[in-house]
Amino acid sequence: MDRTNAEDALKNLFLQITNAHLKPDFSQEGIKEAVLEIMDLAAGIVESVHHTDAEDQVECKAGCSYCCYNQIKLTPAEALLVFSWIDTGFTDQDQALLRERIQNNRLLTEGKSLKNRVQVKESSPCIFLQQGKCSIYPVRPLICRSWTSYSHKACMDAFQSGNPNAEIETSSSSNFVYYLARETVRKVCRYHGVDSEPLELPRAMDYCLANNDPFTRWLQGEHLFDRLPECRDLEDTESTFMDIQVPSFLDRFSLSYQRDGSCIEYFLYSREKEREISTELVLSYDAYSKSLNVSKFYPELYRETIHKYMSAACLFLMINHAASVFGIHRDSFIFLETRNQIFEDFYSRLKDFDFLIHHERTGTNCNVRGIYHVLPVETSMITPAEQIPEMAAV
Ligand code: SF4
Ligand code: SF4
Repeated sequence: MDRTNAEDALKNLFLQITNAHLKPDFSQEGIKEAVLEIMDLAAGIVESVHHTDAEDQVECKAGCSYCCYNQIKLTPAEALLVFSWIDTGFTDQDQALLRERIQNNRLLTEGKSLKNRVQVKESSPCIFLQQGKCSIYPVRPLICRSWTSYSHKACMDAFQSGNPNAEIETSSSSNFVYYLARETVRKVCRYHGVDSEPLELPRAMDYCLANNDPFTRWLQGEHLFDRLPECRDLEDTESTFMDIQVPSFLDRFSLSYQRDGSCIEYFLYSREKEREISTELVLSYDAYSKSLNVSKFYPELYRETIHKYMSAACLFLMINHAASVFGIHRDSFIFLETRNQIFEDFYSRLKDFDFLIHHERTGTNCNVRGIYHVLPVETSMITPAEQIPEMAAV
């Protein structure tokens, strides 16, 4: 079965589960049961892939918790599932301690850049991490379930070095299955008119604990979590590239563009070489399907040092710039075609866009689909091509 068929089959399975639990009513028990069953099914599928594929052996085990020092996001439906669990399963004393951990975590991490968060990570573990174990393990969020590593040592080294760019090989099956599971939960919630946007775990739990009957109010369509500060402010969601790679990219290169209707061509100029080095960096926007298409992405950065990071920063800036030019205000799809190997080595690692293989083509190529999340990213340094003097001289 190719990836597209597998994706369709899985989505259908997840949707069948939600239909079974949510018809005729979109109820509290129904959504809890649906999310739990989706989690169980996803776990079973991922386990069976890991069990049968000798090359897909992850090193995650109980008590290993370096990944629990990351700040995670979860959907409101998952947050309310966790809330129900702690509401009935945590003692008053447990809940009081949890509130303390939430306040401590929010104080240290909220509104901070990734770089600053990494510096305080040892003092800001996940609010549910206790003695190296997850205290809500049976209802832990989908994103936590998706984390895997082929090397426990790589996780340990990344944690100890504090390097947010450390590369950790993860299981693509796990990423794929849990991503679809989470997207199904979001889609079903959107369909029923309730808040579905992911938000940070401490903030979500703070809200749930501070308010009366949040589950019922969420089911009634109240946008409860919107009362909290906007989740996607620039400081809060600055990515690794915004923090580190984009400034470093802009020290060495500049980008300019030319728009022709729904197409934008970008030009990449090397300050060191004092010449344009790119060919055919083209993005187009299909307003009907609300999708960005990366027709060509070949920035010719492969001869540069840390060329993958430079390419990633370049793509990140181009996509965010195109989104602002075309006035994309909602999450949209991004489509591109590439070679399978380049997908594995490059696109699958770009966390900002959730790239997945959408369709495996014959031979070595594949179609890739990602998601553009609306972010307030600064792209004003990308200017029309004719306004750059050095471009005119080339
Ligand atoms: S992802 Fe890494 S840190 Fe987390 S359990 Fe697996 S090996 Fe341990
Ligand atoms: S919820 Fe549990 S698994 Fe997820 S980060 Fe927190 S402690 Fe780790």
